[in-house]
Amino acid sequence: MLAIVDSTLPFLEFGKADFVLLDNVSLEEFMANLKLRFEKGRIYTYIGEVVVSVNPYRAMNIYGRDTIEQYKGRELYERPPHLFAIADAAYKAMKRRNKDTCIVISGESGAGKTEASKYIMQYIAAITNPSQRAEVERVKNMLLKSNCVLEAFGNAKTNRNDNSSRFGKYMDINFDFKGDPIGGHINNYLLEKSRVIFQQEGERSFHSFYQLVKGAPDAQLRSLHIQRDPTAYTYIKVGGQIKVLYHVQIKRDYYGWQGSRDLWCRHGTAWFVELTENSKLVSILGDLLSTKDENVEKALLYRTVATGRDVIDKQHTHQEASYGRDALAKAIYERLFCWIVGRINDIIEVKNYDVRVHGKNTVIGVLDIYGFEIFQNNSFEQFCINYCNEKLQQLFIQLVLKQEQEEYQREGIPWKHIDYFNNQIIVDLVEQQHKGIFAVLDEACMNVGKVTDEMFLQALNGKLAKHAHYTSRKLSPTDKNLEFDRDFRIRHYAGDVAYSVVGFIDKNKDTLFQDFKRLLYNSSNPVLKAMWPEGKLSITEVTKRPLTAATLFKNSMISLVENLASKEPYYVRCIKPNEVKSPLLFEHERCKHQVEYLGLLENVRVRRAGFANRQIYPRFLQRYKMISEFTWPNHDLPSDKEAVKRLLQGCGFEHDVAYGKTKVFIRTPRTIFSLEEQRAEMV
Ligand code: ADP
Ligand code: MG
Repeated sequence: MLAIVDSTLPFLEFGKADFVLLDNVSLEEFMANLKLRFEKGRIYTYIGEVVVSVNPYRAMNIYGRDTIEQYKGRELYERPPHLFAIADAAYKAMKRRNKDTCIVISGESGAGKTEASKYIMQYIAAITNPSQRAEVERVKNMLLKSNCVLEAFGNAKTNRNDNSSRFGKYMDINFDFKGDPIGGHINNYLLEKSRVIFQQEGERSFHSFYQLVKGAPDAQLRSLHIQRDPTAYTYIKVGGQIKVLYHVQIKRDYYGWQGSRDLWCRHGTAWFVELTENSKLVSILGDLLSTKDENVEKALLYRTVATGRDVIDKQHTHQEASYGRDALAKAIYERLFCWIVGRINDIIEVKNYDVRVHGKNTVIGVLDIYGFEIFQNNSFEQFCINYCNEKLQQLFIQLVLKQEQEEYQREGIPWKHIDYFNNQIIVDLVEQQHKGIFAVLDEACMNVGKVTDEMFLQALNGKLAKHAHYTSRKLSPTDKNLEFDRDFRIRHYAGDVAYSVVGFIDKNKDTLFQDFKRLLYNSSNPVLKAMWPEGKLSITEVTKRPLTAATLFKNSMISLVENLASKEPYYVRCIKPNEVKSPLLFEHERCKHQVEYLGLLENVRVRRAGFANRQIYPRFLQRYKMISEFTWPNHDLPSDKEAVKRLLQGCGFEHDVAYGKTKVFIRTPRTIFSLEEQRAEMV
């Protein structure tokens, strides 16, 4: 489908609204068009039904009520490219064909995914429930407001994005037979909980901490034993970003508090206080965790171990105690986050919907997940995040190509194969059974006795020495990108990333001493207790090893991809124009790199594989019938298909088109331009 309105002559100054309209599909032309449009404030451009979006880094006046009205119920090509058009397309497809659809938003950190997902949600909320049913309004409100709470607890300032999502989010919105939202469900993926105890230079912990310290009233802080001064807390000041907070952030922290206030208040356990061996703080902790002080102290300093038939308390070394304390802080925050998601799900879950009475309930899924990440120091978290992006790229390849192929098949048009880089080889490198990096990591973690990160690296080198997408310092000693002996490198579809193995074993094992689980399970605070069901087991009963972080993540990614693949997908591909958050700067190399790894050029080629444009016969006729005597004002041919044939023959375009069962396929964009010109002369 073609964005005719935005691409006809008077609009040419804004560039091509659909990349399939480029005269030559080359990287240069693609980039020139992308840049021109960015500079003209046209941040959205199509590749067929895919939206390419460039982060404008400034407020755009294109999301208001009147814009929404312009897109409501329209076809994609009737209006300039916009997120709203894709949201509308996903909504219409769901409603008309009773099919589940999903919108997959991808791009690197800071490219604009989360903002896009919010605009999409706002659009869907705005165009539904015309009859103002109260229950639907309630659901809509909850869906929109849940964002604010999740962002407070799951987002943080990183060096790449001031409001970076540190968790993956997939949200289903359920609709009734009228097409109104009646509920929803959120899946969250791997919260970057290491941020609770540590932040890189220039970064912050999760917003919620600063919101609490800045925004909570005095009495509240007192009851949580918290000081107003965030620099009093090592955990949230290691990134060094508290004192240099700029005005906007302070305001955000303050107002952010309003949104998350209820959560802190109602379950006023201070997840916040740093855990330490200091006895004064132990009693604070006992108070906050609703347990006995001596139990807290014991859990912090000792570990109960079973040796044969005996159960003994073994005192921690200083290092073990610190490790345990950090693990506890991370675990509490992570469980709190999951608990919040659970509570939101309770509230938005579909209720009182009887399929027999109301018909099928359909779904639109919106995926906003962490983008591809390369930091100065890349660890286990970046490895998981980048693996996730490999999975989504694989899905994109399969679905976009598959769909295209299926359409040609369905319409009875021969299909010509287009070459593209298939990243399945990298997905396998990570997730394959026995040989993949996750498998090697899990195997290392299974070993009894002390296993070091270096031993894991050795195992990788042994297994993967010959893999084209893997190397390490040991295997390529002269490689300048591999600075340290502990580094290994993956050639991702989006570029090379050197990972430091330091911490892989610990983070994968994700050990939390059973003593802590028991401690929290025995809390008299029912919410806390409910978060730690495994604490019920005594030391001699704990036999099963919990699944590793890598395995849990891999499983959740596999089921996410299955879920998305079962729906009709719509894509938003976000591009980050520069590293400095500037609305003016289009850094050519940066953008080119993203266009390349997102496979956008291949996307255009596939889309054009012969046919840049396709339209169902009646719609084509309606638009162009005035240019042919055979069809104007009406035709007397046996079908619309025959009429379209006659029209195109008359114009001399016969060589450039193919006739499918329901659609006419047009090979070159020039034909469309020519039709448009002729039409303009007639009307
Ligand atoms: P991502 O989720 O891809 O990491 P975000 O959606 O958080 O990125 O966007 C990063 C920042 O870029 C936002 O905080 C906002 O300042 C800016 N931004 C992104 N999209 C838009 C937009 N459509 N209009 C204005 N600013 C935007
Ligand atoms: Mg985000």
